[in-house]
Amino acid sequence: MSKTYELIDHVYDAIVIGAGGAGLRAAMGIAESGLKTACISKVFPTRSHTVAAQGGIAASLGNMGPDSWQWHMYDTVKGSDWLGDQDAIEYMVRQAPDAVYELEHFGVPFSRTEEGKIYQRPFGGMTTEFGEGPPAQRTCAAADRTGHAMLHSMYQQSLKYDTDFYVEYFAIDLIMEGDECRGAICLDMNTGKLHRFRAHTTVLATGGYNRTYFSATSAHTCTGDGGGMVQRAGLPLQDLEFVQFHPTGIYGAGVLITEGARGEGGYLVNSEGERFMERYAPSAKDLASRDVVSRAMSVEISEGRGVGEHKDHIFLHLDHLSPEILHERLPGISESARIFAGVDVTKEPIPVVPTAHYNMGGIGCNYHGEVLNPTPDNPDRIVPGLMAVGEAACVSVHGANRLGSNSLIDLVVFGRAAAHRVAEVVKPMQPHKPLSEGHADKALERLERYRTADGKTSTAEIRDKMQRMMQANCAVFRQQDTLDKGSAGIDEIYAMLADIKTTDRSLVWNSDLIETLELENLLMHAVTTMHCAANRTESRGAHAREDFPDRNDEEWMKHTSAWLEDGKVRIEYRPVHDYTLTDEIDYIKPKARVY
Ligand SMILES: Cc1cc2nc3c(=O)[nH]c(=O)nc-3n(C[C@H](O)[C@H](O)[C@H](O)COP(=O)(O)OP(=O)(O)OC[C@H]3O[C@@H](n4cnc5c(N)ncnc54)[C@H](O)[C@@H]3O)c2cc1C
Repeated sequence: MSKTYELIDHVYDAIVIGAGGAGLRAAMGIAESGLKTACISKVFPTRSHTVAAQGGIAASLGNMGPDSWQWHMYDTVKGSDWLGDQDAIEYMVRQAPDAVYELEHFGVPFSRTEEGKIYQRPFGGMTTEFGEGPPAQRTCAAADRTGHAMLHSMYQQSLKYDTDFYVEYFAIDLIMEGDECRGAICLDMNTGKLHRFRAHTTVLATGGYNRTYFSATSAHTCTGDGGGMVQRAGLPLQDLEFVQFHPTGIYGAGVLITEGARGEGGYLVNSEGERFMERYAPSAKDLASRDVVSRAMSVEISEGRGVGEHKDHIFLHLDHLSPEILHERLPGISESARIFAGVDVTKEPIPVVPTAHYNMGGIGCNYHGEVLNPTPDNPDRIVPGLMAVGEAACVSVHGANRLGSNSLIDLVVFGRAAAHRVAEVVKPMQPHKPLSEGHADKALERLERYRTADGKTSTAEIRDKMQRMMQANCAVFRQQDTLDKGSAGIDEIYAMLADIKTTDRSLVWNSDLIETLELENLLMHAVTTMHCAANRTESRGAHAREDFPDRNDEEWMKHTSAWLEDGKVRIEYRPVHDYTLTDEIDYIKPKARVY
């Protein structure tokens, strides 16, 4: 290495990387238990992508009609197309009401019913009476800015506890000793100094990786950094082939129009003015689950019934709703529609198209947040010292398809669960294990290689190629020939990293360098996602294969575990848990998924 880097040392009981909803809830809980805690974030906490969440957070409060955790569980299992682990799902839905009341006490300004209770709206795939009854009103909302309200309240609360925040610090890589995690190496982007954080437990809360796609609702910061660190540590990622496309991204901009818009009565029409969802999902219609609606829209477009000059999108109507309702319940999206589509929602429909939105897959872990490194003999083997929460993790509660408003609840329920687990396994002031001589070498060599990279292709060019390759070959509908073409293509793009060009050589606010580190993380996910999608020869949830249109439980009722080794994807499997957490509910047996 041409440059020697000095490392500034920090010693903590636990560190949390990420300050979105999941990271803040975990950090707060760990600090509350008396452990010395740091929270590290590449952006200021309230700028994390959670701030953009609109529609709401699911919990069976039953404020607007009958509801129960059992029905929430049934809907989540069915939404997951039976790939979700039912012990984890039971844990989440049972904890959900308390988690929402906790947020209320933290100060989240929820919208209210006439009697002053938390307002709840219907969301896709949420029903009553185990799918037999009317839609459930389960999604608790603070207008259409729920994530904003949550993140600000949680950040304010977290200041009450003794957490040290390291803001605008970029985590480069984990410190691994054998199979154990002992902390992380981070760059202070403001000063250019490098920091070594030693910790008994490292919690990854780094969010999703949707920026692998050309059109995404996610922030530019959603680059899968946690999963990239995990893959470089020789650990697998789980179920990456399951990527959620949200039916209503604004055409051209990708900006989200919440499902809450359809929850409030909005509907989709094709170029013939037809409410086509009535054909695809006769009972749930526009509120069928997201994968179902996105596929229906894609079929309408491919059969020539799209709207607009290129017949390549669909209209979402809200103009029949009263301006008062729009103003009160959907003010944020009314503004987004005006800014990004030039549309006045009280008068005109919004042009929308399915857009990459959420990653069901991620860092495999159990419902305590402990990261898994499965072997054939022990599929639930854990990695000592490493945990994951939030969208970066795959618990797996969302299985093959997440229901709307089930992510925000996942963040706070599992953020809190992870904090409890850390408090159980780590004792305050416990001595730190020694680090071997070369523990930081790989991380620093990687940093230096990209800082001084003088190849042929710029970071932006490679990123653009990756995003187009993913969009063209691994989107709503998939089939073998395009996935094979996509696999070869994405492998080639991944190989281009060896010949990348950066121009800024400094370490202070070097966005060229940061974007390059992020690009490698994105590409590691892109390669794995594409190969896992080519490998799974069935349709389940968001993974829709035109050549294998049916779900195949006999062969494919299993999680994918994928390692990326020297640029090659190695795939193994973990069984789906066919049991629940308690005997208060039986395992919900697979059946056909119709809405
Ligand atoms: C537009 C939009 C609307 C949504 N609406 C809803 C909704 O209404 N209901 C719902 O349930 N879900 C919704 N979702 C999904 C949900 O908001 C996300 O899944 C969730 O907020 C992710 O939270 P998180 O805490 O896991 O990660 P994020 O909020 O993405 O935070 C990631 C954190 O990790 C940090 N980080 C990442 N990499 C590094 C690194 N290398 N070094 C240091 N720090 C790092 C970042 O700084 C950030 O603090 C929506 C998503 C989008 C994109």
